[in-house]
Amino acid sequence: MAIGDQTFVYAGLPNRVIFGFGTRARVGDEVRRLGVQRPLLLCTPEQKAQALAAQLGADLAGVFAGATMHTPVAVTEKALAVVAQTRADGLISFGGGSTTGLGKAIALRTGLPQIVLPTTYAGSEMTDILGETSEGRKKTLRSPQVQPEVAIYDVELTLTLPTGLSATSGMNAIAHAVEGLYAEDRNPIVSLMALEGIRSLSEGLPVIVKQPQDRAARAQALYGAWLCGTVLGSVRMALHHKLCHVLGGSFDLPHAETHTVILPHATSFNARAVARELAPVAEILHSAGPGQGLYDLAKRIGAPLSLQEIGMPAAGLDQAAALATESPYFNPRAASLAEIRALLDDAFHGRRPEL
Ligand code: NAD
Repeated sequence: MAIGDQTFVYAGLPNRVIFGFGTRARVGDEVRRLGVQRPLLLCTPEQKAQALAAQLGADLAGVFAGATMHTPVAVTEKALAVVAQTRADGLISFGGGSTTGLGKAIALRTGLPQIVLPTTYAGSEMTDILGETSEGRKKTLRSPQVQPEVAIYDVELTLTLPTGLSATSGMNAIAHAVEGLYAEDRNPIVSLMALEGIRSLSEGLPVIVKQPQDRAARAQALYGAWLCGTVLGSVRMALHHKLCHVLGGSFDLPHAETHTVILPHATSFNARAVARELAPVAEILHSAGPGQGLYDLAKRIGAPLSLQEIGMPAAGLDQAAALATESPYFNPRAASLAEIRALLDDAFHGRRPEL
């Protein structure tokens, strides 16, 4: 990478990462390292059996298996009651972004340390970002208080992630990396992680959807997801994340699927302004353009390609475009209401982008 006349700031994330196969057995050591004596295990109802069977090597104060999508404040309040009742002094979040979100919401209110065992590719464990919902509204905040202290990536925990969710969750991770490449506060180190993250996931995912038990491909994808999550935690996102936030928040579209569908279009749109930054993405994906490459990858791994197929009502497109342009945010290319409406139309119909 040519440094040229760039001026930049790089700040490493203040967390500890353990990666490998069977690393869940190290939870006990990490609990002790943090001085925690009574950790509370968090998970979704669906993953309770998996979490309890995982042999984490730590004595638990209790289990709260009520994590759910969008981190509703009402669920956090129930979990806080269990924290108080069990006198828990630390959290072990076992699951995807929904479970990690619950751990962050508890940490925000109690200051309890968090150890996260990610089982999807969403990347929340690497960030100081929390999105919470109450009364139907999603609010996002950034605070050092919610940044998990430890992430333990155990490739074996991802072997059960269904292929459909593996594909969309992986594309969700790639979206963090793509936007990191043209972030306002981008820097060469984070860009290296972004490109390596995209490369790793684009190699791992096509194998996983055919052979979900392929350990090497699972490791490759999880490694990529960690890198992409680090990008999300390190620099600020732009148009793509804004659009997904609007679509998820106002039309209740599924998180990872929405990222998957929007990414090729947002990337293609921005490629006209930041061609140099996005050229390596096209190269990694062996494609003429970065948006086209991402579209073709999504198609190859059987992920959804249109907003239409994931539940977006055609009648909502005007409102979505208006919401996405009502308040200013950084994007490398200025986006008018008409341009965003056209982008959403392409995404709605699942057209292959031009670039
Ligand atoms: P998720 O956590 O909602 O999990 C989806 C489903 O998959 C759940 O039913 C879960 O039980 C199941 N599951 C997870 N891992 C599994 C496994 N290994 N085997 C079998 N089943 C498994 O999905 P997600 O995509 O990881 O998270 C999405 C949420 O995370 C969204 O609310 C999003 O806003 C949030 N998120 C936050 C950040 C952040 O930095 N704050 C970053 C990315 C995503």
